[in-house]
Amino acid sequence: MSQQGYVATPPYSQAQAGMGGYAAGFGNPPPQSHYGAYGSPAQGYSAPPTGVLKPPASSPSGMPPPPVSSQYGTNIQQNGAHPHSFPPPVSSSPSMSPYGQPPPSAFHSMAQAPPPTQQLTNQMSAMNIAGYGQRPVQSPSNSAPQHFQTSPPPPVMGHPPLSPPGQQPSPLGSPQPMATMGSMPAPAMGMSGPPGPVGHQPQGYPQQPGSPMGGPYGAQMAGPQMAGPQTGTFPGGFPGGPAQMAGPPQKKLDPDSIPSTTQMIEDDQAKRGGQVYVTNIRGQVPPLVTTNFTVQDQGNASPRFMRCTTYSFPCTADLAKQCKVPLAAIIKPFATVPKNETPLYIVNHGETGPIRCNRCKAYMCPYMQFIDGGRRFQCSFCSCVNEVPVHYFQHLDHMGRRMDLYERPELSLGSYEFSATLDYCKNNKPPNPPAYIFMIDVSYNNIKSGLVRLICEELKTLLDRLPKEEGAESSSIKVGFVTYNKILHFYNVKSALAQPQMMVVSDTAEMFVPLLDGFLVNFQESRAVINNLLDQIPDMFADTNESETVFAPVIQAGVEALKAAECSGKLFIFHSSIPTAEAPGKLKNRDDRKLVGTEKEKTLFQPQRGVYEQLTKDCVAQGCCVDLFLFPNQYVDIATIGDVPSHTGGSIYKYSNFQVEVNGQQFLSDLRRDVEKSIGFDAIMRVRTGTGFRATDFFGAVYMNNTTDVEMAAVDCDKAVTVEFKHDDTLSEESGAVMQCALLYTTIGGQRRLRIHNLSLNCSSQLSELYKSCETDALINFFAKSAYRAMLNQPMKTVREILVNQTAHMLACYRKNCASPSAVSQLILPDAMKVFPVYMNSLLKTPALVGSTELSTDDRAFHRFMVNAMGVEETQVLLYPRLIPLHNMDVSSESLPAAVRCSEERLSESGMFLLENGLSMFLWLGQACSPDLIQNLFNVPSFGHLPTEGQTSLPVLDNSHSRKLHSIISRISQQRAASMKLLIVKQKDRAEMLFRQLLVEDKGLHGGASYMDFLCYVHREIRQLLT
Ligand SMILES: [Zn+2]
Repeated sequence: MSQQGYVATPPYSQAQAGMGGYAAGFGNPPPQSHYGAYGSPAQGYSAPPTGVLKPPASSPSGMPPPPVSSQYGTNIQQNGAHPHSFPPPVSSSPSMSPYGQPPPSAFHSMAQAPPPTQQLTNQMSAMNIAGYGQRPVQSPSNSAPQHFQTSPPPPVMGHPPLSPPGQQPSPLGSPQPMATMGSMPAPAMGMSGPPGPVGHQPQGYPQQPGSPMGGPYGAQMAGPQMAGPQTGTFPGGFPGGPAQMAGPPQKKLDPDSIPSTTQMIEDDQAKRGGQVYVTNIRGQVPPLVTTNFTVQDQGNASPRFMRCTTYSFPCTADLAKQCKVPLAAIIKPFATVPKNETPLYIVNHGETGPIRCNRCKAYMCPYMQFIDGGRRFQCSFCSCVNEVPVHYFQHLDHMGRRMDLYERPELSLGSYEFSATLDYCKNNKPPNPPAYIFMIDVSYNNIKSGLVRLICEELKTLLDRLPKEEGAESSSIKVGFVTYNKILHFYNVKSALAQPQMMVVSDTAEMFVPLLDGFLVNFQESRAVINNLLDQIPDMFADTNESETVFAPVIQAGVEALKAAECSGKLFIFHSSIPTAEAPGKLKNRDDRKLVGTEKEKTLFQPQRGVYEQLTKDCVAQGCCVDLFLFPNQYVDIATIGDVPSHTGGSIYKYSNFQVEVNGQQFLSDLRRDVEKSIGFDAIMRVRTGTGFRATDFFGAVYMNNTTDVEMAAVDCDKAVTVEFKHDDTLSEESGAVMQCALLYTTIGGQRRLRIHNLSLNCSSQLSELYKSCETDALINFFAKSAYRAMLNQPMKTVREILVNQTAHMLACYRKNCASPSAVSQLILPDAMKVFPVYMNSLLKTPALVGSTELSTDDRAFHRFMVNAMGVEETQVLLYPRLIPLHNMDVSSESLPAAVRCSEERLSESGMFLLENGLSMFLWLGQACSPDLIQNLFNVPSFGHLPTEGQTSLPVLDNSHSRKLHSIISRISQQRAASMKLLIVKQKDRAEMLFRQLLVEDKGLHGGASYMDFLCYVHREIRQLLT
């Protein structure tokens, strides 16, 4: 694309010309006549397809309807599994002890010694900070104030203050939407005059004094508010300078004046919510993850499957290096597709298997270009020209597109599946259906807490809801049962038996499965024996005194059982203590919080190698996913025992100090969802790219045996893999950047399939295009995962430093190359990244990174594992929790009340708020909360009648407020991957600390800056970089 072209083209509003070789299915809509075959031209794209496709009439379908007699009818099935899940319960419990008071240090996260650049590892190479000046080492306690105090006044740039960019050619010829934060007060610079008239603001974003956020999306931020009236409040320094850092600021900047995440979310919802997002445009930036929209696949994968940090890659490695914006995709291959969107089609090419490029092995997709009358096709990934197999031949139309384009999902859609042939199966044999093995720790704690009985009772009904193949009558998944403490007990539950039989293996050093026949069975057939067993287990161990457990042999037993049955599967391990019994994988308590803040802090998170490393390999090789349900009363070394789950596509759940009455419902809800969720086994994923760039790094609950194949024992609807890309050559604006994620896996019914997701991005030699096409939510997902990996190898403070530095570099580069000229004292943020700093600051304050001795090591390790597998939706809400005011909720409204900024300032004594971050949920009650509301929700007359600590249940009452609150909680819970424990927190309770640490705009309770202070700090860094 020429520069001329993109300047003249409205950025994302219409199809762009110049899709290079990928005209088919992309770019400008084809002439209407082309659609004649599918009905009236106007309805060509939107009419629901006939035949096997039956999406709701009101929803747009994925593609134009094929003729009924087309190949869809014979070769394509609808892949329509929509597992139902239980609505998670609303009650749960506090399982963490309240944390202490916040430490006093202010810039804990970033004002420490800068890292030696040489220490950066491969993983963090994207964050290389070389080339920018290192600052002198100062101690955390006083360095921040000094930084602020001694920072030289920024030099006045050669431009008049607040020069109107609209009246000058911008450096790139294209005015950029931007968020400008008014000059951080710096009177010395003469930048602090009263706000200029409207005409003196950056183009198109008139100031609205008094409501800085009220402008259009991307409005200028608060220029006058910050530049004018507050000037002089912070003479010679930043807000949050010494005086302010030590205590409450004497006069605060208006917190409304800094970019607001909730506002951005609302704006996007208003602008793009409820709309159909059609994926036919290369490089199109999707709506935010928080926005409700419907996806219509027309050649690029839905953003539910793939999101990118930017949808316009820089053409050269130099540009990429210059801006330091990571190029990455977050892929959730099994993402849940809402019911009103078309499920993936399954394409069957028969015995010959899917059509692929001979050279790079990319699969047939909409980007392949057919030439030579349709006899050959050119691969869009490696340019190789391939013969079209005879059975796949089709004539081309006058536009050079295959006549059967819209009858073939692989030619017209971004996502679809292929049936895999025996070539894609282990040992060229069709796989067996997977098995689920339930492995219950029956040591003293679990018996005493009632957990074992709870699990056994639940399984009796839960096993009826094992996932099944679309159209199948019952689930093909086999089930097996093991109980253990220091030794393992296997159960024969063959249907022919009158009673289950137990077999004990006490030699845990050489684990083997003592029975083959009768261990893994079909639940329907063996229901009576299994129920009998589940009745007996709690009683069998009722009098146990055994408190020691093994752990590694349990996983080993599961793998051996799957190996013997020649199938993949999942282990559900319900475990409560650190495995100290004499056996392989025995662990000792190595929780030493004295290491926090030292060079050795990373060792707390490094798993104990040896046995566990080998176990991971065995599991992955067998397609054995490990799900770990933990019920710890003390340190269990999650860093080690979570290592196998975190490399096998497994999930880790943690219920500290488990009590049936308190956490029981939360646990059961998690277990149900986990058992029922859509999942693929024995998976291997490959991400192919067009020439010029390639996937270089992968983050997720995956295992890498080489540099390209991402192995996953299983992958479910919640697991996302973050893939980083690097240039190895120059990209062209014309061909863009194409990528194809191919996931080979075994279905729950034992079918071998290939799931393909394709995505095409733009490329540009203008960095402004990159910044315009950034996605903050995806960026922060990448940063979180890469930082959480880096913390295994580097001191925590180095990791934090790199994050802060890279934030400043990305923003400084924008400022230098893309923003309209203005005084350096103004903080100017790219529109698409204007709330990036609040997310980054929040990331720095997460338990894993914050480095506080008050946080439990297991909690931090757990957090690390959770984030590692998260998709963009999950990291978004984790790092910017949703704070919803309830005291003024409209009980007649269907919608959720609008969230407010995540800050203490938004709370009021008379208020009531719900706060959630995807992992926990709080209901906060102000001391002066309306007694009527309290009565309606809790059935007690006033605030004072509520229990002081730890209430976790919310009664269901027959009034509109109670119904509304329950409906809000249930709606939020349904959006989340795990059930959240609800904790009811009264203002000034001790437990309020837990709630307050999620108020991410405020100073961290365990260290870390407030959003405002962080922004000022970053601004200072940017100014340094620019001078
Ligand atoms: Zn190729």
